[in-house]
Amino acid sequence: MNATMDKTEILAWLRETDAARLAELWRRADETRRRQVGDAVHLRGLVEISNFCVRQCGYCGLRAGNTRIARYRMLAGEILEAARQAVKFGYGTVVLQSGEDYGLTTSWLADMIRQLKRETPLAVTLSLGERSDRELAAWRAAGADRYLLRFETSDRHLLDEIHPPLGNRKRDRLAILRRLKVLGYEIGSGIMVGLPGQTYASVANDIELFRKLDLDMIGIGPYIPHPGTPLGSGFQIFPPVNGEQVPNTELMVYKAIALTRLVRPDANIPATTALATINKKNGRELGLQRGANVFMPNLTPLKYRRLYEIYPAKACIAETDVKCHGCLNARVHTIGRHIGQGPGGRRNRESPAGRGSVSRGNPQSNSGDVLARVLQTAEPPRVADPRSDIVRIPQTLEASNHG
Ligand code: SAM
Ligand code: SF4
Repeated sequence: MNATMDKTEILAWLRETDAARLAELWRRADETRRRQVGDAVHLRGLVEISNFCVRQCGYCGLRAGNTRIARYRMLAGEILEAARQAVKFGYGTVVLQSGEDYGLTTSWLADMIRQLKRETPLAVTLSLGERSDRELAAWRAAGADRYLLRFETSDRHLLDEIHPPLGNRKRDRLAILRRLKVLGYEIGSGIMVGLPGQTYASVANDIELFRKLDLDMIGIGPYIPHPGTPLGSGFQIFPPVNGEQVPNTELMVYKAIALTRLVRPDANIPATTALATINKKNGRELGLQRGANVFMPNLTPLKYRRLYEIYPAKACIAETDVKCHGCLNARVHTIGRHIGQGPGGRRNRESPAGRGSVSRGNPQSNSGDVLARVLQTAEPPRVADPRSDIVRIPQTLEASNHG
């Protein structure tokens, strides 16, 4: 059982129910994790900078059609404050995540990244959806180090149904991941496990794809139904897949994490918030003991946190950043692991900026030429009014309008 495991074996493990056999899978995943990435657990401070989104993903509570949430966009000062907190807690990375929000303009965010790189030693990870090559190049040139974009499922038919294209702009997440790599980003991707219509074979394909893509980070979490979405409300239904439907259970997520560790031994794999949501007691610890090596403590100011409701009853929705920090530290130490220092990039990666290193703005590297070329190309036509399908919210909650 190793990186050469084929799809038939992966499929068999996904269907495995025998507790003793599964204990062997957990043991091997944990042993591979220890050998390849060590006992350090890297902490990435998550800042959910905006919950505006132009997309209509059938699974996500932030979808543009959800009129029941108030929308916010954080101010630059608030983001900087959260990043300073990350430094204070000793984190090596800040992750700026949002809906696909074109109110976060290219230049505003580039300025933000430059300021973060000037004022902190943090690696900057972005997770902002399917942005244009030009935007991605501008943010990389400003100093962004990593980009997270899950392909969600490798089943193209299922993805088209639950993640519809934006107008006539068909963008392919795998193609964007390839572009990000050329631009010199460390790239992360991932999936949801247990989506309606998702089969065991499809999850086995996802894991095969993790093996093929040279991913630095791989995020795997359960699909959690949100009643305010077409998928979660039962409005969007998929025909039964004859006993092949993958359950959105904790156990299935652990299997996917463990198998991913075995096929991509040196990847950074988080024990996700979604996993912690379905097992608040010890889902994170079990994730860490079955292949994961990263946590993403939430640094979003409390007043916004409950509004970033991708799915209901999200873990850590009401805890202050100080409390989250203390809680995660304790969880890591209870299982005999320690907190990682520095940015915690993938060890075996030959990054354009150097092995495991973090760029200090204006990356000088092989990818520099590509960046320059992309930045010289004309801005592609914008989607009509990216926010026209978003219901406006009371001004008090919309922290700012960068757009
Ligand atoms: N908008 C960006 C994007 O879609 O890549 C980043 C933010 S999005 C909220 C981050 C991730 O949340 C998605 O990639 C998806 O996997 C996950 N997600 C969304 N809805 C979910 C749900 N109902 N259950 C579990 N995970 C969900
Ligand atoms: Fe928007 Fe991302 Fe949610 Fe899709 S998953 S609706 S792109 S925030």
